[in-house]
Amino acid sequence: MKPDIHPTYHQAQVVCGSCHITFTIGSTQPELRVDVCSNCHPFFTGKQTIVDTAGQVERFQKRLERSTRL
Ligand SMILES: [Zn+2]
Repeated sequence: MKPDIHPTYHQAQVVCGSCHITFTIGSTQPELRVDVCSNCHPFFTGKQTIVDTAGQVERFQKRLERSTRL
């Protein structure tokens, strides 16, 4: 490797905000926080779960409920 052009390579701790597991990957950051990971993502679990940290899905479902009642 050429000196002084590569960022520091860390064994980064990844913390998942949804299922709260931690695992280690190689990264240029020492710590990473993610909203979804391969342990809890619907693609890997096969279950339908809503990954919604901002409450947008809930807002949409409320609006949908209101409009179908009319
Ligand atoms: Zn996860």
